[in-house]
Amino acid sequence: MSGSRRVVAGGPPKAPDDRRQSFLLGWAPEPAPAAAPAAESSAQERAALRSQVASSKQAFRSTVAVRLGPEVARRIRWARGPLPVISNLRDVRSAHVFDGLDRSRLLDDVSAPTVLERADGDWEMAVFHLGGPTRVGSVAELTARYNEHVWPARSRPPTRDKNWRYWSLVVTWGVARRHCEHLLPMSADTLKAISWDLIVHVASRSLVMAVWAAVQARHTAYQLPPPIAGRGEFSAWARSLSLITGRPLSLKLPVHRSVVAWLLRHRPDSIATHRARLVTSLATVACLRVSEVARIQVCDLWFDHLTSYGVPGYEGTCAVHIPNRKNDAERKGHWPVLGRSVDPSADLVAQLQTWLRLMDLRVHLECDKRRHPAARCLLCPPLFPRTTRGAGNKVVSSGRPCSRQMISDDIRAAVAAAGACPHRFSGVSARKGGISTAIEAGVAEDILYLQSGHGVSKAGRPYMHIRDPARLLEVFEAFGL
Ligand SMILES: [Zn+2]
Repeated sequence: MSGSRRVVAGGPPKAPDDRRQSFLLGWAPEPAPAAAPAAESSAQERAALRSQVASSKQAFRSTVAVRLGPEVARRIRWARGPLPVISNLRDVRSAHVFDGLDRSRLLDDVSAPTVLERADGDWEMAVFHLGGPTRVGSVAELTARYNEHVWPARSRPPTRDKNWRYWSLVVTWGVARRHCEHLLPMSADTLKAISWDLIVHVASRSLVMAVWAAVQARHTAYQLPPPIAGRGEFSAWARSLSLITGRPLSLKLPVHRSVVAWLLRHRPDSIATHRARLVTSLATVACLRVSEVARIQVCDLWFDHLTSYGVPGYEGTCAVHIPNRKNDAERKGHWPVLGRSVDPSADLVAQLQTWLRLMDLRVHLECDKRRHPAARCLLCPPLFPRTTRGAGNKVVSSGRPCSRQMISDDIRAAVAAAGACPHRFSGVSARKGGISTAIEAGVAEDILYLQSGHGVSKAGRPYMHIRDPARLLEVFEAFGL
């Protein structure tokens, strides 16, 4: 079984080295610090702080190991952070420090996408594969299955993953500070204690706030009253921290419309630069996030979306079907539109069609995206695939979608080719560029939001149905292509 009870249970650490350790962790009475000599430079003081933090973290790790017991401690995998984090809590759950506590609530990782989330909209088949109505048991089992398959979707898997990492930090802290029984539910006082511990270990504001968010989320996931309760309280906590530690502005710049125009007129010399400039142009004009660009399939380009309104003059336009966006919690879908350029050499829609031919990407004959737009198509290839070498050493589609990171890299590479400094840009620059261009051109907020997908939950929006394609194209027109 797990580590020796004798070593783990209570009492301050006994090893000879533990006095130093206890002192660093603040358990032993601390001698009053000698006043710093006036001559000491700020650089020296900073170096002293760094070394204090480093030794404190070392002490923190050994304390956690002692508390968990030698057998369990051998299994610990450490993740780095302002405070050390056990990154594999699953492997230490047998430790006696958790005895008498609800291990499941404290230590279960529910961040992995559930079966229904992985089905990506094709949920009926996923339910069938889970056993459908044949697996219906007692009421308690029904609740358990709902908790397993639906309840985690209260937040998205990437958010759950982040929350899990920071919750792991909280549990590790609880072990070090002998406070595990006060973690869930947690009082505001305990959260303040964790926060101060992070601050003295020089954690950034965003990290402390990520810990708060993880603690809050763990409480709501198990329907417990969170430590930061009450309307506006979270912002008030955040404000107090920002006033002290500062809040540096993100320096990532938006992609300017002149960059998009340059990219569309530029004739690439490789498939890689070709993809990078189309990714960047499309993501900017359609205000897309990198994750959305990475997921677009060829059957998501709806070339007839505006012509089907029956208003003449919209040939050569295209809508990009985005099955679910971050703000689209209900998978209603979203269709930012691309118009026809005045300058034929900078026509994004025509260039996307050329791209499809060049890379031999086509909509599968049995594709039923239009009938089930919320579900990911299992037949069609991604619009921006990774490439590989095919027959005759020709660069061809591998059929696998690019990762979010690859899309970000494409955007940075494209702006660099256009003469911008790539360090000032990131994946978010494209979406920022689309939104800023529209705002600068005076596009009405409601129209901009149809392109960017903001605020779909706002009252009245679900009923808004713009019938004039010209209004829908206002964001595109703002680019002056
Ligand atoms: Zn398809």
